[in-house]
Amino acid sequence: DETIVLSDLAKRMGIKANEMIKKLMMLGVMVTVNQTIDFDTAALVASEFDYEVEKARFEEDAVLNIDSEDDAGKQVGRSPVVTIMGHVDHGKTSLLDVIRKTRITEIEAGGITQHIGAYSVATNRGQITFLDTPGHEAFTSMRARGATVTDIVVLVVAADDGVMPQTVEAINHSRAAGVPIIVAINKMDKAGADPDRVMRELADHGLMSEEWGGDTIFVKVSAKQNQGIDELLEMILLQAEVLELTANPERHARGYVVESKLDSGRGPVATVLIQEGTLHAGDPIVCGIHHGKIRAMLNDRGAQVDEAGPSMPVEILGLSGVPNAGDEMVALDDDKSAKQVSEHRLQKHRSLELAKTSRVSLEKLFERM
Ligand code: GDP
Ligand code: MG
Repeated sequence: DETIVLSDLAKRMGIKANEMIKKLMMLGVMVTVNQTIDFDTAALVASEFDYEVEKARFEEDAVLNIDSEDDAGKQVGRSPVVTIMGHVDHGKTSLLDVIRKTRITEIEAGGITQHIGAYSVATNRGQITFLDTPGHEAFTSMRARGATVTDIVVLVVAADDGVMPQTVEAINHSRAAGVPIIVAINKMDKAGADPDRVMRELADHGLMSEEWGGDTIFVKVSAKQNQGIDELLEMILLQAEVLELTANPERHARGYVVESKLDSGRGPVATVLIQEGTLHAGDPIVCGIHHGKIRAMLNDRGAQVDEAGPSMPVEILGLSGVPNAGDEMVALDDDKSAKQVSEHRLQKHRSLELAKTSRVSLEKLFERM
């Protein structure tokens, strides 16, 4: 369903929008400058001006070069990307905090951790990237856009509370996305802790522990007392080994926005999790409806970096606007293509927005009648 905003069509044809509106009126079509018209109407009015509208579809994918790069023989291992999910108050934030504190500040004494929506943890057996957006929204909104950025879900269940509605939701989301689950039974320090009950309840939802002959990894932890964290990290890496996660670091970078904001001093800022390829300072990029050139990249410790490879989260500066979480970012060869793709998307976006508002105003009109 190709549509175009009337003013955009007029501009492309070098015709005043008013002239086009008049012509359309004579043809019995009532539109305003900001309304969209469909292909047939566009073709009709264009022929009135001795133009021919071609249904030449903008080949965005060709410009983006997405599937044309050869990955053969270039795939190498990459770190796992982990999302922590679970029922409210079961300890997601506490767990993320304790992992971050013990693993990052230990290594970089005095280092201040930046909140960028994702962070990378170094263990002596490898790196793990955690998405610092506990809860289901980030996970589901990205999935709705066809992006599965998470390799492993850590399902937090409080030992004194057991399986709750959001626990079940998290299991369903993970299953739907085909992402393996590691269970962290948290709050083991509490007097009312009953891990067996948690295991029983989860078995009822198809998550059977290895202890009981199933294949789900369970780890008993206490975020409060910093217990079982090493084992949890080890189990994540073990699960990652089984998944044999790979990516080609040699192609144009592709990734997803996990967080974004407008910074008064730095302009649009986005945290991007790189999935494929390597992003370099100076790379032209397209991100959602925006484009730009990587002016600077910062890692989760606020340090400037020149490049970011697969599974690495980086904060990027240099975009023309603030993208949405879940938007895809693609690096391109030249600024011109980046601008072209972003303009095309912007136009499409505007058409959709305008279609929405004109529908609303029509409804209002009918209300009044
Ligand atoms: P979230 O809603 O899942 O992010 O849960 P929070 O991390 O905010 O934790 C909810 C409450 O449980 C807070 O009061 C935490 O201090 C507490 N809590 C988290 N982990 C533990 C734990 O291991 N032991 C105990 N006793 N309390 C915990
Ligand atoms: Mg929380």
